[in-house]
Amino acid sequence: MQFIDKYNFKNKRVIVRFDFNVPLNKEFQVTDDTRIRAAVPTIKKIFAGGGSIIAMSHLGRPKGVSDNFSLKHIIPVLEKLIGQKVLFAGDCVGNEAAEMAKNLKAGEFLLLENLRFYEEEEGKPRNLPADASDDEKSAAKKTVKEKQKQFVNRLASFADCYVNDSFGTAHRAHASTTLIAGNFPNDKMFGYIMNGEIEAIEKVMNAPERPFTAILGGSKISTKIPIIEKLLDKVNNLIIGGGMGFTFIKALGGNIGCSLCEDVELAKKILKAADEKNVKIYLPVDVCATRASFDEVMNGAAVDVQVFDIYKIPEGFQGLDAGMQSIDIWKNVLFASKTILWNGPVGVFEVETFAAGTLAIGKAVAEATGKGAYSLVGGGDSVAAINKFNLASEVSYVSTGGGALLEYMEGIELPGVKAIKE
Ligand code: AMP
Repeated sequence: MQFIDKYNFKNKRVIVRFDFNVPLNKEFQVTDDTRIRAAVPTIKKIFAGGGSIIAMSHLGRPKGVSDNFSLKHIIPVLEKLIGQKVLFAGDCVGNEAAEMAKNLKAGEFLLLENLRFYEEEEGKPRNLPADASDDEKSAAKKTVKEKQKQFVNRLASFADCYVNDSFGTAHRAHASTTLIAGNFPNDKMFGYIMNGEIEAIEKVMNAPERPFTAILGGSKISTKIPIIEKLLDKVNNLIIGGGMGFTFIKALGGNIGCSLCEDVELAKKILKAADEKNVKIYLPVDVCATRASFDEVMNGAAVDVQVFDIYKIPEGFQGLDAGMQSIDIWKNVLFASKTILWNGPVGVFEVETFAAGTLAIGKAVAEATGKGAYSLVGGGDSVAAINKFNLASEVSYVSTGGGALLEYMEGIELPGVKAIKE
């Protein structure tokens, strides 16, 4: 394994896996450039060292070649952020790409078209008939795996060394995130995003300054069980908000109206385990609720909102944000913490009416950070929230990975990380 800080990039063609999977609007303009912006330090480092860049990424989930998912849409933003022209190959493994890569001069940037236009990237057969037999399925899988090797070799042939800077896909054993590393046994390394993510997660999970508090929110417990179990072995305090909080309140005998509710027995088990492990759980004590339907709320309709004791939500009301008493209690916990992990909003922050709780948490995490705590914000929606409230620069680290972050924290070795390290 090599290190980006020490590697000699002079006259090297560097193939880099970025995560340029950014949201686009109907006019195909980039609406959030966070991921492209985050890639700039790695790009600058390679150019400063005298190398050229062949950039690989995916965009969205195309089922084949599709103009809607073309990476050409990101070029204006990319050019602006790196301050230079971007060359573009309209097929990631075509002759044009090979020719352009061969002629690339130091300091030039070549962007390859969306890797996922090819099923070889993910290594999963596409377009299998719904009634395919098991034999047909396994034959198709074998064919794709064979084609995948050629795909990897073709991409690798463009370059002298490989950098993986796509944390968002590090939990996937895809061609460009994992397999290609094998073609560069002595010339593979992490980019700065990967380095930063690994450092931040290791710091929080393996060497946290105490007290360590995690805030878990979002809608579902079911998707977060492994991370909750892992965190119970790590944290001193666990703040549970958002939709997932109500299952715990119900488990404790509360009336939650028609708020979200999942497996009550599971919530009881988690509460028991927390008790045994001396983890203090902080559930909400009050809630902002409405009688309106979730669709009405999401459509921005003017809805009537009432605040209730969290144990006494009347029938027909659905809790959609933490109340201010809960926030005050949580704030005190956060201000006394030395390490903070925030995953998931504590309310439906996407709509103004139910954004106050999540905004207050964001501000409290920022304030605690200002007072010396280390804070890591990760997992899709808390990142969206922190960006929405313009607080990203006031916390210690904002992770670019959703699934990858959670899996890494659960202790799973990510294929993309392993492929560089081994
Ligand atoms: P998740 O993907 O499970 O992390 O959930 C994120 C989503 O949870 C966000 O879109 C929030 O709007 C939503 N959410 C947060 N609090 C609640 C709540 N009390 N009821 C329903 N949805 C919620």
